Amino acid sequence: MEPWPDIPGPDVNADAAPYWAAAAEGRLVIQKCADCGTFRFYPRHLCPGCGGDAAAWTEVSGRGAVHSFTVVHRAPTPAFRALAPYVIALIDLDEGPRMMANLLGADALETAIGDPVGVVFQERAGGVRVPQFVRRSG
Ligand SMILES: [Zn+2]
Repeated sequence: MEPWPDIPGPDVNADAAPYWAAAAEGRLVIQKCADCGTFRFYPRHLCPGCGGDAAAWTEVSGRGAVHSFTVVHRAPTPAFRALAPYVIALIDLDEGPRMMANLLGADALETAIGDPVGVVFQERAGGVRVPQFVRRSG
């Protein structure tokens, strides 16, 4: 997937460190509650399903569908100027949680709500890899 070498990577905090470590290896992991089995994203201490605080970082399929999206035509900062127009989407993972990410690929501007997508790992400044998505057929 085309890198965005001028776009900064994340500020990694302790709650999300396992997420970014897995992304560096090309794996998408999210927290799964050890008490009730609910998947959750963004990373956080307590389960939204049962309030439990035990969770395991669990590799997920990386497959999902577009819940909603927007096309950015006006770059928010100069670093994004060469990338516009580009797509920001809300992705409903097959496992349940919703993620915000860029939709990449040559056909990204043809995105429609409900499109199936799959995760890819895009390189950012400093070599950080960020989970992003591309449209897929079927
Ligand atoms: Zn739970």
